[in-house]
Amino acid sequence: MILIVDDRPENIFSLKSILELHSFPVDSAGSGEEALKKTLKQKYALIILDVQMPGMDGFEVAEILSGNSQTKDIPIIFLSAVSTEKKFITKGYNSGAIDYIIKPIDPDILLLKVKTFVRLYEQNRELNLMQESLRSEIEFRKKTEQQIQEKAQELHGILEAIPQIAFTATSAGLIDFVNENWYLYSDSITKFISSHPEDAPIKDLWNNAVMSGRELEAEVRIRKLKSEVWHYHLLTAIPIIENGAVVKWVGTFTDINEQKMAVKRKDDFLTIASHELKTPLTSIKAYVQLLDTVTPPETETKPYVDRTLMQVNKLDTLINDLLDISKIENGKLNFDLKETDFDQLIDRTVEMLQQIYPSRDITREGRAGVKVMANEVRLEQVIINFVSNAVKYAPNSKEIKLITRKQEDGKVYFGVQDFGIGISRADSENIFNKFFRVSDTDSTPQGLGIGLYICAEILRKHHAGFGVESEPGKGSVFWIELPQK
Ligand code: ADP
Repeated sequence: MILIVDDRPENIFSLKSILELHSFPVDSAGSGEEALKKTLKQKYALIILDVQMPGMDGFEVAEILSGNSQTKDIPIIFLSAVSTEKKFITKGYNSGAIDYIIKPIDPDILLLKVKTFVRLYEQNRELNLMQESLRSEIEFRKKTEQQIQEKAQELHGILEAIPQIAFTATSAGLIDFVNENWYLYSDSITKFISSHPEDAPIKDLWNNAVMSGRELEAEVRIRKLKSEVWHYHLLTAIPIIENGAVVKWVGTFTDINEQKMAVKRKDDFLTIASHELKTPLTSIKAYVQLLDTVTPPETETKPYVDRTLMQVNKLDTLINDLLDISKIENGKLNFDLKETDFDQLIDRTVEMLQQIYPSRDITREGRAGVKVMANEVRLEQVIINFVSNAVKYAPNSKEIKLITRKQEDGKVYFGVQDFGIGISRADSENIFNKFFRVSDTDSTPQGLGIGLYICAEILRKHHAGFGVESEPGKGSVFWIELPQK
């Protein structure tokens, strides 16, 4: 918008007509005072200012405008009929004006000057806007940087206070902070703590985690500088993710040596105890079996002998399970796989199970019709375990269904279905873990929670898939998936 300031309406009229003819929006004021008021309310791209006016003259108006921060940048063109003398022109420039036009006005010259000034004004305004947004961008960045620094300091303070070894790293995996504890194990921030020669190198674990962007959790043995003693530590590193990208890593080493040693002592005890129990038990079992064969069926003592044999068998299974556990712990649960007819293996197992559980209907559905690679004794152990659990955890139903089928991918599916208490989804996820039992109530049968753990280990050695599908109150299907030979 252009403001024309002149005390004569006819002058305003003629100027306005010329400018509007060329699409310039125009406003007008009849005196210097009115012009000043208008500039406070409206932004103008240019002011065309008559020098000679009654009251405040053009120079005074220009002086006031140049002293005001809001209006100082508005270009002014003075209009004058008389002030052609040099001193007047100089006065005009001193008071902040940019150009001068002498009356009578040549419309072409006026338009040329107006166009130039308006363009300059626009460019100036754009530059100012750009400068303003740059300034606020810089302010914003400064503030964010300060906030990040404050956060980092807070985090470092916390990491110094914890008993673990702690470090942080950039998204690219470059360590940028370590706490004091780090220097007990390494002499430099740039040198990763070394692990025991038999454990995975920490640098490799770290690089893998950084490359995958996934949380790292590993047990490693490390030792203090100049110390000979290795201590088990749990190394964890968590990526901090913002807007879907890793921005930082925070890691710790926690000393778990005490726990590891306690677990080892417990495992050693279990191994020794079960070995020591096994020898006398084997003799007892042999004698009771002998007694059983020589006791005529109709005698009074026969039921007692039967019951003793049953309890001895239970004890034998338990001790065998404990021995299996220690074998698994020591990596010694090894066995060969041989070509095995899966259906025949199930036939034999079912026959045996039917004798152990005469009150249950163990039904069969489907056949595999193929051979698999298996260790018969161990695979049988898994099936017996599944069926024993089905008996134990479905006390009020008679039927246990064994389902076999050959899948489209060639694998053999085998499932043991019961119609008992079932398992919740959350518990199903842990059911194959060592010592896991669904939380006990008075009515849940007793057990140690090791049977399924052993099954899982045996099945892994068969390269088999396994799992459970269950609905609380309706029953469960424990299944395995064996690759065809
Ligand atoms: P145990 O039966 O000796 O406790 P297992 O390892 O065989 O140990 O089973 C672990 C847990 O899984 C059991 O304690 C039980 O809670 C649950 N479970 C196993 N089989 C079944 C089943 N067929 N139905 C319901 N729960 C089961």
